Amino acid sequence: MCPICKSEKYNSVGIPKLDEKSKKIINKEYQVVQCIECKFYYVYPEIELSSVEWKLLYDENYFTEQTDWYKRIRAKHRKQRIEKLNTLCENDVKNFLDIGCGEGYMLLEAVSNGWIAYGVDITDNRISESNNSKISFVNSDLLSAKFPDDFFDCIYMDSILEHVLNTKEHIHEIKRILKKGGVAYIGVPNEDSLQNDIKKFLNIITGHKKYSPKIKPFLSPYHVSGFNKYSLSSLIKKSDLKIELLRNFSTKSVFRMTTFASKDFLPAIFLTMINLIALLIRREYYLETYVKKK
Ligand SMILES: [Zn+2]
Repeated sequence: MCPICKSEKYNSVGIPKLDEKSKKIINKEYQVVQCIECKFYYVYPEIELSSVEWKLLYDENYFTEQTDWYKRIRAKHRKQRIEKLNTLCENDVKNFLDIGCGEGYMLLEAVSNGWIAYGVDITDNRISESNNSKISFVNSDLLSAKFPDDFFDCIYMDSILEHVLNTKEHIHEIKRILKKGGVAYIGVPNEDSLQNDIKKFLNIITGHKKYSPKIKPFLSPYHVSGFNKYSLSSLIKKSDLKIELLRNFSTKSVFRMTTFASKDFLPAIFLTMINLIALLIRREYYLETYVKKK
């Protein structure tokens, strides 16, 4: 059953790929499916892993090393998003929350803007600069953190929703803890990107048609839920939040990253071409949305 709209109808997208590590943990027949009603991608039957098993999967090298160029792009994105949140909140922000705050760069950005910053994450990966008394950190998942009702002016959640099975509960929780008129930023990968179509094509020509080219629940970076523009907007509308902006973006960054990171010239050119086409037809890697509590 679809975890978002409860529909029983789905199409199979393929079976999830496993590697040596996940083969030792996964002993059930799962498939990646797409809900016919709301277009959400999920794993069926529902994944049953203990927290110890998840920990085993996530344990190594989750934070990959980033180039200086990519770090600069990330910093630019953070500034732009803080500005956009500020504008949508009419320059009246007091309490800010970063869900899955990682190293804490966004918390530092919020503090430098004069905001009161809160971070929540299941693991504390904060760098020393963001580990100080100005920042309140809660070491848990969002639902267990139990923040008060109507508390935050701004909430930031980038690349988190695709990692959780209970996406609907997360959106409801964001709505509960946002103040009236408060704004949340949500960023997720776009499963209907052109790049995933190419993956599907490559799976077919290499005789791996049975494997899903969408969400990879048991391979790093462990995406168990998948969105396209339609399913993301229907999830938000169901929770009665107002979409201020919803867009597909980021090919430019990714294509420069892949080009510069790649030591192989030909694959880099190939990727650059695909990414340029994705940009032109608006089928890029990521989706981002700003939503307001009415
Ligand atoms: Zn659905």
